[in-house]
Parts: sequence; structure tokens; C-alpha cells
Amino acid sequence: MEKRKESRKSSQKRKGSLCPVSDLCGGCQYLSLPYEEQLNLKQKELEKLLGRFCKVYPITGMENPFYYRNKVHAVFGYEKGKVISGVYQERTHNLIPVEQCLIEDKKADEIIGSIRGLVKSFRIKTYDEDRGYGLLRHVLVRRGFATGEIMVVLVTASLDFPSKKNFVKALLEIHPEITTIVQNVNRRDTSMVLGDKEKVMFGRGYIEDELCGCRFYLSSRSFYQINPVQTEHLYRKAVELARLTGEEIVMDAYCGIGTIGIIAAKKAKQVIGVELNPDAVCDAVRNAQRNEISNIRFYCKDAAKFMTFMAAEGKKIDVVLMDPPRTGTNQEFINAVRAVKARRVVYISCGPDTLARDLKEFEKAGYEAKGAWGYDLFPVTRHVETVCLLSRKAQ
Ligand code: SAH
Repeated sequence: MEKRKESRKSSQKRKGSLCPVSDLCGGCQYLSLPYEEQLNLKQKELEKLLGRFCKVYPITGMENPFYYRNKVHAVFGYEKGKVISGVYQERTHNLIPVEQCLIEDKKADEIIGSIRGLVKSFRIKTYDEDRGYGLLRHVLVRRGFATGEIMVVLVTASLDFPSKKNFVKALLEIHPEITTIVQNVNRRDTSMVLGDKEKVMFGRGYIEDELCGCRFYLSSRSFYQINPVQTEHLYRKAVELARLTGEEIVMDAYCGIGTIGIIAAKKAKQVIGVELNPDAVCDAVRNAQRNEISNIRFYCKDAAKFMTFMAAEGKKIDVVLMDPPRTGTNQEFINAVRAVKARRVVYISCGPDTLARDLKEFEKAGYEAKGAWGYDLFPVTRHVETVCLLSRKAQ
């Protein structure tokens, strides 16, 4: 371990950093490590946390571990007479200018650069958080990697956007590849990026992307995995582990916009999706229609409460697919999985520590982990995604 620390330090010194703002931004913790070594570290972490429950299979890395983020967010500001955009320094409100980022989609960064230029030439005021004054707060760019569709979201502090039409026209002249532009109004003094009010400035107001042969509508607010190349591998594995034959009742818990459930529905008898965020549920319903999937129903409920309700009604579920936030799930959910007599659980997790905690509780509830597969969805950062198969022990 000491050795590794030393070699990491010296390699950082030797090469210098690949990114001029990496220290201030803090997003790319593994920047100084060769990719192979990043993968080794993640594999070791998974083995340490999950190895006592099941076999940890080799992590799936990326062929090209850069520029993978399909969604890019930039805070806009003004410094020494210059329009700047970038990220807040970790745990502060100091805006660090970022012109190029090694993990963000290049096209998105290019568009954000053009917007910086236009903001200056149109004399648009960027928002000053301290004084609560100015117009443009953030820009969000989302690109469908499979479809090439691009959405630009301009987050403003008020609805009134002077010379709006000309601004949109000028942006489209530089980037005719943009398919939709949306104005999102966020008047609040908050760290949330998006507000509730939206106005479509150009195009349809949403984009579409494709995953595992299904098409999904994405709006500004929808949760969508930020690395679609790796997500496709991850979801294929999740569905494979579910071993569906067309006869199963499947629960897609924490389903977001319905991606996993819709992909699985083609191989299941029926899928039930449950999700707490009402916007995501609306998107999920539309996505099911878009893919002509009729054997899926979505419910806007807390996953644990809904599963408990299903159990109380005496409903049976064969397979549970679950993809909770980083905080993992809870005891109530795990108890309900047992009560609905699920035979298999496929647990997708972006937090291996909470996954380990939950596996322990699943074990007490009579579920045995059969294997864990790491997927590097977030190269150059310390984060890692895992899919884990659990099976009900014979009684
Ligand atoms: N499976 C989806 C989304 C995973 S992200 C995908 O891969 O795209 C986790 C989701 O869990 C988010 O959409 C979040 O809104 C939802 N969520 C968080 N807490 C929840 C709860 N208590 N019950 C149901 N859903 C919840």
C-alpha cells in the first residue's frame, strides 16, 4: 500500500496533471493513475466490501475512458470583465472556470464555449448569487449518444430574456446540430440547478436516446445514466441475471424513467415499476408507450411502502430488479421482498458500501449473494457501479 501511494505521487509529479483545474474541481480523483490501475483499485475495493458475500467477477472497463459524460452542467459567472463558466470548487461557492473537461462530452463543452461568447456579445448579465442579480445562471447540455440529438437548457433567474429570438438564432447558426433549446426559470436562492417553470425556445423540448434496442424520451429533469456506453453493458447483464423466460412477474424498483423495466418487459410476463419522483413516472409511462410495451405498469410511490402493500395484498413477485440511489435500500424493503416471495433479486448499485450493508440484511432475510460484477461507469473518478445477483435460499 505504501508503495502504491509513493508511485502515485511520483507519477503525478512526473507527468503533471492532465487537467489544469483538477485540484480545485476535485471531480477526477484518479486522474493521475493509468486506467488499468484505476480498474485494479476499483476491483480491490469491490472485493474488500463484497468478497465476503460472493465472488466478485472482473470489472468491465471502457475502451476509451474519456469524454464519456452525456450530460454537462456549467455554472455561469463573471470574473475580471470576462464571462466564465465551470464548476463550483468542492464545498464552496467559488466558481472555477472550465473550458474543456476530460470526462465531459466534447461537443457539449464546445456548445458551452459558444454560449460564453454569445453571452458576451449579447451583453447578457450572468447571475450573481450573492447579490441575487443577473439573468443566466446555468447551462445544461445533454446529448443522446446513440441518436445524436442535443438538448440545451438555459437556466435563468427570470422569464424575461432580452433578445431571446436572436440569441437562439445565433446559437443555432454556430451549432445547427442542436435539436432543442429550453429555457428553465429558477428564481430561488438554492443549490438546485433547475427550477419548475420551463419554456421551449426551439424544437420539441426533449431529446430521445436509445439503450439496448429501446428508445427513451429525455427531458431536462429526467434521471438518465450519464455514461450510456457502459450502461448498455450493465443493463444487459442485469437482464441476463434475471433469467426471464416470459412467465415472470418482475418488479423494477427505483425505476426512474423506466429504462430497466422497459428493456426487461420484452422477456417477462408483467413488469411493475415503482418510483418516487412524479416527473420520472410520467416519463416512464410515455417511454413504455413509445416502445409499444403494454405489459408494464408504473406507480408513483415509495418503493418500500409499495412493496409492503403488495405483500399485504398477498401479491407475488418472481424477480426484483432494484436500482436505488447511493444511499441504498432499507429494512422495510428487504422484508417486503421476502414477503412477496421473490426468488431472485438483481441489485444495481452505485454505492458499494451501502450495497454491502444491504447484502448483509438480505442474507438475514434468507437471500444469498451469487456474484457481483463491477462496471466502470465513472472512469477517472473513484465511483463504481455494481450489479449483484441474489437468490432465495432453499428453505
Ligand atoms: N433505474 C433508473 C433510476 C435509478 S436512480 C435508471 O437506471 O435510470 C434511483 C431512482 O430512485 C431515482 O429515480 C429516484 O427518484 C428514485 N428514488 C429515490 N428514493 C426512492 C424511494 N424511496 N422509492 C422509490 N424511488 C425512489
